Amino acid sequence: MEDKNNNDIIEELKNKSVLHWNYRGYKNLPCELELFGDKIEELYLKDNNIIKLPIWINKLINLRNIYLSDNKLIDFPIELYDNKKLSVLNLSCNYLKLIPTTINNLRLLTNLNLDNNFLTQLPPAIKELEYLVYLSICKNELTILPEWIGSLKKLETLLIDNNYLEEIPNRLTLLSTLKTLSICSNRLKYLPLNSFISQVNICFNYNPDLNYLSYPMLSQLLELGWDDEKDIISNSNCVKKSSNFNIKLAVKFNDMSIEKNKIIELPRQLFGIFKNYYNEPVSLWELSLRRLYQTDNAFELLKPDIFHKLMLNGPISVCLSNKCQQPIFTEAWLIVGTTEESSLLVVALFCSQKCLCTFDPQSYGINELPWEIYTE
Ligand SMILES: [Zn+2]
Repeated sequence: MEDKNNNDIIEELKNKSVLHWNYRGYKNLPCELELFGDKIEELYLKDNNIIKLPIWINKLINLRNIYLSDNKLIDFPIELYDNKKLSVLNLSCNYLKLIPTTINNLRLLTNLNLDNNFLTQLPPAIKELEYLVYLSICKNELTILPEWIGSLKKLETLLIDNNYLEEIPNRLTLLSTLKTLSICSNRLKYLPLNSFISQVNICFNYNPDLNYLSYPMLSQLLELGWDDEKDIISNSNCVKKSSNFNIKLAVKFNDMSIEKNKIIELPRQLFGIFKNYYNEPVSLWELSLRRLYQTDNAFELLKPDIFHKLMLNGPISVCLSNKCQQPIFTEAWLIVGTTEESSLLVVALFCSQKCLCTFDPQSYGINELPWEIYTE
């Protein structure tokens, strides 16, 4: 009987390039695969009992796609490093706690699925996977999504639902390839103030602490046919205490609405916030950032220091004044209000008092609301 099975497997290996070996209860892969697996390109191994791949997996020299979801992997399968053609790797629903810093050995990877594991962070080596188009890390334990994720030059789909993220890297807004970004059920306190330069389909439902958007972001979402606003309007009572580095504003509702005050939290990058009647000059620090950003070879002039980092992550917004559109990095003049299309709070940023004063909120459909810097 066993011989017949072995012969069947050998026959299958000799005739096929795709193996559907899902739900077979394999703890170890059949040893025939080592001897006759050199033609195999796709290997489906969903829902088996694999704890570790055999070292001879590297003999599958034509392997492009491997699906290992619902197995018992505790460690990342570094045995695949010598499968030089590997492009699709699905490791969802396993027990991974760590992605090794050597993952850049999988140079040609285009699709990586790490859903349903126990990951708390991502190693910077992932940014060296320069062909990565699809990255899914839903249902893990990530608290931070690193800025370098925006350096993955081919990335089109990024799915990070069900984690503990409080913010999205600003650099993602500058990624021109991005088409889909899903970041539902996290702990987002704000979205980037910049809009995305790509026509991205963004989904961010069930982030109860998110209670405002920037005007450019709202405009982009409405342009893309977004109508989910009700899902993200949150209860203002649930703003939690957290890092002291973010400026918070108390926005006052002056009508008869139920909410009197709403606390909103601005991105960390923003150090200074002014109102229209603050006759403050822009700091030299901020002015130099803006000037450098508009200088062609600024990157070559800068050593990797805080300047360099701020440049790389890009401006936090651009001045909303039509004629101006200066980049804004750390200081801004601010209008807060609601819009006619949406009952959401929006913030609009300006580079200077002058730009704010010449801006007509009404013509943008913004109903301005008074605000104060909030201190606990
Ligand atoms: Zn301006």
